[in-house]
Amino acid sequence: MIPLPKRLPILDEISKSNQIIKYGFTGHVINNYELGLLSKYFHMQGHKDKTIYNMIIDFCKNEDEYFNPVIYQNMINKSIRKSKMYKLKSGTMNIPVYVSEIEKIKKLPHKLYRILFTMIVLARLQKFSTARIKEIKRKSHAYYLNMDFNFVLYFAGFSHPTEKESNRIKYELDGIRGFIETNLFSDKSFKLNFADDKGKHFMVITDINNITSFIQYFCVECGKEIVKSKKHDFCIECYKTYLNKIKLESKKRLVKNGES
Ligand SMILES: [Zn+2]
Repeated sequence: MIPLPKRLPILDEISKSNQIIKYGFTGHVINNYELGLLSKYFHMQGHKDKTIYNMIIDFCKNEDEYFNPVIYQNMINKSIRKSKMYKLKSGTMNIPVYVSEIEKIKKLPHKLYRILFTMIVLARLQKFSTARIKEIKRKSHAYYLNMDFNFVLYFAGFSHPTEKESNRIKYELDGIRGFIETNLFSDKSFKLNFADDKGKHFMVITDINNITSFIQYFCVECGKEIVKSKKHDFCIECYKTYLNKIKLESKKRLVKNGES
């Protein structure tokens, strides 16, 4: 089993910020990441730089009575400057998945379908939230997901994948089927080749912490919408046909073996 790294990527930064404000920094130690969230949060509320600075100093003093603002001055100022460039990721952000994307992946084995579905939602969340507040024109419509593949599997509902399984799935999606493309220089960055954000929405994900609960499954044979079965990836009719085929094949095999 792959041990999950201690800190999962935070998908819902607004809830995380509220949590910090209520309970303080993790371990009550000031850290860059959480300081950045606070700055963005205060900025989002419409406060001016000077006010944000004072709010942060007050917050830190409250956390640690020996807090020395002089030591952290640069770190705080830097986080305030950066807070103006990026939006906070929100767990209740509406993330669409497009019909054209679902069409490309819906007949895949459910396990692979679930992973790709999760990947496109995460990639879109990253794209939305890392968009600079001052819109810059993007040359490319490409979608990338920057995340450790084991985290991807975690968000797709695999609780304890083995290293071997994780690598096999990655190879199948990348090398064999070409739905994703691993970055040559980083194994934590994937280009999603099936992404296609034009046309109609298939659905809108409204709770980023429960992506898998939104997934609509299809029969891998006929493509009909189905309720997910634990046993197989077919609709009832196709499953019957499949079972009959297997029965017939094993009968044929028996006959063949009897002849020889
Ligand atoms: Zn079917």
